[in-house]
Amino acid sequence: MTTSNDRAFNEGMSNEENPPESGPDASRPSPMNTLEQIAHLVRNCTDCPLSGGRNNAVPGEGNPQAEVMFIGEAPGFHEDRQGRPFVGPAGKLLDGLLGSIGTNREDVFIANMVKCRPPDNRDPAPAEMAACTKYLDRQIELVNPKLIVTLGRFAFGRYFPGEGITKARGQLREKDGRKIFPVLHPAAVLRREELRPTMIEDFKAISEILEGKIEDAGMEPGVTAPAAPQPAQFSFMDAPGQAAVSTAPAETSSVNVEDAPQPEQLTLF
Ligand code: SF4
Repeated sequence: MTTSNDRAFNEGMSNEENPPESGPDASRPSPMNTLEQIAHLVRNCTDCPLSGGRNNAVPGEGNPQAEVMFIGEAPGFHEDRQGRPFVGPAGKLLDGLLGSIGTNREDVFIANMVKCRPPDNRDPAPAEMAACTKYLDRQIELVNPKLIVTLGRFAFGRYFPGEGITKARGQLREKDGRKIFPVLHPAAVLRREELRPTMIEDFKAISEILEGKIEDAGMEPGVTAPAAPQPAQFSFMDAPGQAAVSTAPAETSSVNVEDAPQPEQLTLF
């Protein structure tokens, strides 16, 4: 996995070592030629109603040349306060999971589908995701990661709409020429301790994918994943009707983003 020794760490890195002129879509007349420009645009964006309720937009951050890019759903309370992704309890869990495979957030890039916190942590609306996708699209183009890891149902649905995360998680996929590896949302693991082994195994698989041990799209990682999670209870997991093994009634939880209480559960192992 790439190390951070010779790389800067922030979303605003000038990208001088990775000039946009060499990027895959540098010819288009866009102001989003660097991650720094994207971050500036996001912080000043009013393209959807979420701008009205934010304290801080959360553009995303990390290694501009990361091999792995993590995509979550939306900022939560802590992220809105700090303007950084995954800095609450779910973020601490993510940090621990990254550490468990020998990396850290300085080596990866972390972003969300929408850059501003939805009120009361509700699910982002389709129109809000549509308005915001231009930023994430361009971040992916510029970082150009070897692997995209989607965190939870919404981010997975960006690439495979209508499929359930409980069935798909832990399986390497390919979409539009990019490798996609869906895992559960860390907040789901905080709320359901029994999902922790599944999450740990899925993160081990990330290392195997980067090492080339898992190459075929759709191939099950070389680890034995536990059975698919039981009834989805949170919106970052499957919607009713999507979960492969869910027998739960329709869920209406509004807890959908990076907030998650119970920090006492953060111990990874
Ligand atoms: S969520 Fe995205 S599109 Fe909406 S205001 Fe924030 S940055 Fe702009």
